Amino acid sequence: MTVRAIPVRGEILAPGQPGYDDARRIWKGLDRRPSCIVRCADTSDLRNLVGYAAQERLPLAIAGAGHDIGARSMPDYALVASTAALTRVEIDAERRLAKVAPGARWGHVVEAAARHGLATTGASVATVGVAGFALHGGLGWLMRSLGTACDNIRELEMVTADGELRRIAPDSEPDLFWAMRGAGSNFGAVTSLTLQLHPITRVTAGMMLYPGEAAPAVLNAFRDITARAGDELVTHFYYNGSPDGAHSTGIGLCHTGDPADLATLLAPLAPLGEPVYDSVREMGIDDLQAVHDSSTPRGARYHLRAHYLSELDDSVSEAILARCRTVTAPFTQVFVEHMGGAVGRAPIDDSVFGGRHAGYSFLVINGWSSPEDDTTQIAWTRAFGDAVGPHATHGAYVNYLDYDEDHRIPGAYGSAYPRLRALKRRYDPANMFRFNRNIPPEVDDAAS
Ligand SMILES: Cc1cc2nc3c(=O)[nH]c(=O)nc-3n(C[C@H](O)[C@H](O)[C@H](O)COP(=O)(O)OP(=O)(O)OC[C@H]3O[C@@H](n4cnc5c(N)ncnc54)[C@H](O)[C@@H]3O)c2cc1C
Repeated sequence: MTVRAIPVRGEILAPGQPGYDDARRIWKGLDRRPSCIVRCADTSDLRNLVGYAAQERLPLAIAGAGHDIGARSMPDYALVASTAALTRVEIDAERRLAKVAPGARWGHVVEAAARHGLATTGASVATVGVAGFALHGGLGWLMRSLGTACDNIRELEMVTADGELRRIAPDSEPDLFWAMRGAGSNFGAVTSLTLQLHPITRVTAGMMLYPGEAAPAVLNAFRDITARAGDELVTHFYYNGSPDGAHSTGIGLCHTGDPADLATLLAPLAPLGEPVYDSVREMGIDDLQAVHDSSTPRGARYHLRAHYLSELDDSVSEAILARCRTVTAPFTQVFVEHMGGAVGRAPIDDSVFGGRHAGYSFLVINGWSSPEDDTTQIAWTRAFGDAVGPHATHGAYVNYLDYDEDHRIPGAYGSAYPRLRALKRRYDPANMFRFNRNIPPEVDDAAS
């Protein structure tokens, strides 16, 4: 690769250059060393890079906020287009739309939209990238009333592998509009996302935590709460380790309804007595992300496993609780997120997000500090996933798949997978965009 020939205005960073180490830092504490990172100064840089990669027959990685669970956006030895500096968010308050640049994080959208009394389904943590999150689904605090983030995509602009800048919307490239909402990183470099906003200014939200031993009772209470919850209540069961070895458990919640109703909705927790920590309070919508912001420090070692569950019966509850008792790492968090509501009501064939049928999403984020513990902690995470797997319903949420789970990608897309492969062949036959939850192009049987 002739680095000097890359036609961009932004910085071109090769190993050893000032800024290279900063640019390659991602959420996971991995030592990834691309051959070159281009810090895009504007979206024309992104377009020019796609053209350059096509001409040089190089695969191109697109790195936004770098929160990919499998660290796919920052591969060793590859050419990386970093959009991290492109964070502009424009709000059209009248039409309740946000036009979001490709490197924006959720914190940028929340802040800009809140100034107009608006919000949409975003990630639980402010530093997560809008693009990676929304192009592959997007589960968040507001999803039971507003749907997933990909349900709120109204329009995209993107550069496909042939260098063409395309407008993707229901009335323009409908095939791509379908595919981009769930499998988005496979078909091009997105230069902007237009998201639907909704009038929400205040919520009641926070965490109620109890000692780890209370986990069976908390999980039971969670099941009862979710059985009666309307769309205005999103909850998750939570279990975590801590640096001092103490475990805690509890419920995280966000309620957009009348705060006066909350005590009744949370009545199943009453027999547990007072929580040891209770941050549930009325807050402005712009404070919602702070509920989880500090829980997964950037740069730690992480490994994840996740499954969709149709219900929380005794056998899956016991499988989860048995593993929770064996947590040893300091930053481990176990979630059972309540899905359904608007997520389940959106038409299944409208997008390729595959989690419509799930009642719950199980997720273990195992986090530790020392590379010496990698083998033990990765094995522990896998064993947790294996214990819950037999109780899971079909499919997988691609945003939660770690680097060693690419074999689950076809199942994640289910019956949409063959059509996605055909589209991949049409728009990216050389698989230029492969540093993602990759969908290989359909093979031409006649040519093979
Ligand atoms: C701390 C943390 C909290 C999280 N919380 C949630 C949550 O609440 N709900 C949830 O559903 N998920 C959550 N996730 C998962 C998250 O949604 C995914 O990891 C998501 O893909 C991250 O997107 P990113 O843009 O930050 O990551 P990146 O690593 O920058 O990108 C992720 C993928 O998207 C591709 N991509 C990025 N930008 C573009 C673009 N402009 N055009 C084309 N492709 C692009 C990349 O190439 C890569 O394949 C969380 C992850 C972390 C680490």
